[in-house]
Amino acid sequence: MGEVDWDLMAPRYGWDLHCHTVFSDGTCSVRALIEEASRRGLHGVAITDHDTAQGWDCASREAVARGMPVVRGTEITAEDDGVSVHMLAFQYDPCSPGITALFARTRRLREQRAKRMVAAIARDYPIGWDDVLAQVREGGRTTIGRPHIADALVAAGVYASRSAAFEGIVGASGAYYLPTPSPDTHEVLAAVKEAGGVCVVAHAGDARRNRRLLSDAQIETLVDEGLDGVEVWHRGHDEVQRRRLLALATRHGLLVTGGSDWHGEGKPNALGECLTDDETVRHIVERGRIALAGLSAPKV
Ligand code: AMP
Ligand code: ZN
Ligand code: FE
Ligand code: FE
Repeated sequence: MGEVDWDLMAPRYGWDLHCHTVFSDGTCSVRALIEEASRRGLHGVAITDHDTAQGWDCASREAVARGMPVVRGTEITAEDDGVSVHMLAFQYDPCSPGITALFARTRRLREQRAKRMVAAIARDYPIGWDDVLAQVREGGRTTIGRPHIADALVAAGVYASRSAAFEGIVGASGAYYLPTPSPDTHEVLAAVKEAGGVCVVAHAGDARRNRRLLSDAQIETLVDEGLDGVEVWHRGHDEVQRRRLLALATRHGLLVTGGSDWHGEGKPNALGECLTDDETVRHIVERGRIALAGLSAPKV
């Protein structure tokens, strides 16, 4: 048998299960997400804003209006033994008290952290907290993050683009950087399971995001606690990491997902550049507690 071409294993058609909108740090509305997904011929999309389900009602309405099925999800900020981890939670009950308390806490800590960063930046650059709030499209329903600080710096003429600001003072190696205090992965996974959701570790092999990556052993501990899958098809993964995560998924019978991590104009990532196959999405919907938005016959 010859060498396996790992890129040939990536789905060519299907669903983009990792997308951000104005309900966190994406630059486009939920409607724009769904219209763009239709234009690109995707079978469906997931809305996965950071630490919130605030965009879900809008996503359900647009899904029905445009006949584009939408998986409802969230990208949850977490931490595992010093490694920053993002966990995608799909099709959970958004009213579950554990998960709503978790989001409320993270969003409060995110805002405090952003305010502290901006206070320090304001000593050297012409922006203040109001300029950051001016970049937030859904008011208190939007999860604030560094991209809003970057956008304020762009509006003030300090940088030409959000990405340039991340390469400059907004980046994790910049002098103004502060981490977001985050819940433990085990706590997040327990809350997602309690809420009847499907939990997938996002971009676990992206070396640009962490000095140290989540190890196989760390992922396997989460598998023992009910982790459903790993995101393999993501632009942050090189071939070595795709191979490692696929092997891990095969060993443990995990779901394999893919997504673009679309942020609208905020990042170069194109909607649908990485995909999840139909069969995997079917498993996610079957396992999840809520119905797929945009199709009739609701489960709840
Ligand atoms: P934070 O969560 O507040 O630490 O901000 C980091 C987030 O910014 C990540 O979710 C990135 O995906 C997002 N982001 C959006 N646009 C960019 C960009 N142009 N460069 C780097 N990160 C970005
Ligand atoms: Zn983001
Ligand atoms: Fe992420
Ligand atoms: Fe993301």
